[in-house]
Amino acid sequence: MKNYHNIITIILAIVTITCTSSQGLSTIANNKPSSSSAPTIDIISLIEQVNQTTLLTYLEDLLAFGTRPTTSAACNNASLYISNELTSMGLSVRKQNWTHNTTMYSTNIEATIPGLRPNNPLIFILNTHYDCWPGSPGADDNGAAVAAALTIARILSTHSFNNTIKFVFPSGQEQGLLGTTYYIQEANARHEPIAGVINADFIGYATTTSNGNKIKLYDNSQSRWLTAFTDGTADKYKDYIGLDAIPSGNNANYSDQLKYWAQGFNAIFCREYQFTPNAHTPQDSLENMNVTYATKVCKLLIATLAELGNSDLQIPLLYIDTISGGFGVHTSVMNVGTSTATDINWTIAVTGKTIFIGKISTGVLAQIEPGTSAQIHSRFILGFGAANLTITAGAKTKTGQASVFLCFVYQPLNTTS
Ligand SMILES: [Zn+2]
Repeated sequence: MKNYHNIITIILAIVTITCTSSQGLSTIANNKPSSSSAPTIDIISLIEQVNQTTLLTYLEDLLAFGTRPTTSAACNNASLYISNELTSMGLSVRKQNWTHNTTMYSTNIEATIPGLRPNNPLIFILNTHYDCWPGSPGADDNGAAVAAALTIARILSTHSFNNTIKFVFPSGQEQGLLGTTYYIQEANARHEPIAGVINADFIGYATTTSNGNKIKLYDNSQSRWLTAFTDGTADKYKDYIGLDAIPSGNNANYSDQLKYWAQGFNAIFCREYQFTPNAHTPQDSLENMNVTYATKVCKLLIATLAELGNSDLQIPLLYIDTISGGFGVHTSVMNVGTSTATDINWTIAVTGKTIFIGKISTGVLAQIEPGTSAQIHSRFILGFGAANLTITAGAKTKTGQASVFLCFVYQPLNTTS
């Protein structure tokens, strides 16, 4: 992994060249840590401000609420504690209340350090779920990562970056990534320029020195650059962090990054190298934690967030806008990122028992400049009655429903944003 700086540079150059080649532009992505518009930030000093006692205090405070299953009083108390801590740091804090199947309700918490870049700062998220498995103390799952996020927020709250940094604390994770599902729904509706998500879950278990020097990073192919970026950061500050990042592919079939992947976002999953045998048991307690290890992971996370915050990454970010009807199905694909999106494959699928013509339309958008959108239209449709609409563009998918009468599509209803 010693050559990761070069690998990152090459990957970013390839991404940029791919994105700009059709225009013949010569812009090359700049992934250098410092930038002209934000004050120079001494990342080594940020790492050195990470204090094990601070992290441990946050963790002990969380564990003092008792087991924190979603919708319990303890979970609610933990959410108040987290939001109060973030507010006391002077961060802008937003609560997203959600209910699920009328029996489960809870709150996602989001704290934001707004980016300084005048044009469209990208958003980078540190995601740490704060609920836990019923009956488990939830120290490693996921108290340690929540404590790390609070520790990082406290240090970064006095700094500003080019890009926006958000700390997101969802609940409902143990019941099927519910909090994250609602968080992403809202981000989709707002067309938030979320460029990368680091999901930290299980970051405090290691029983040997060797395992305490390694951290796993799971990704999907679209997000591999973020693994390389994080790995490169671990290498760059190895003397101050002491962790080897181990790229581990996409074979992690649990935790919140799955929802981000499913919705076409860039996300990685940061997880302890030696997976705890205590997950979801009463033994997931402080005495079985390695807080020194969690503190090292915390150092890697703060360095990576600060590097991302300062970066000038060139990334296209697509959203599919509201679906409309009329003669055919119509919408537009927008690019809220920082580089041109090119060769975007799209499909509009209209399915129903009595749809006869125009069930599938496909095309390729040559390019969409940052801050602009391109319209897409289905071909001629002929049918009757209810139809399901599925629109894809690049890695993004949007679904809806409508009624079709002859060649007219009535009242399309967006079911996912
Ligand atoms: Zn977890």
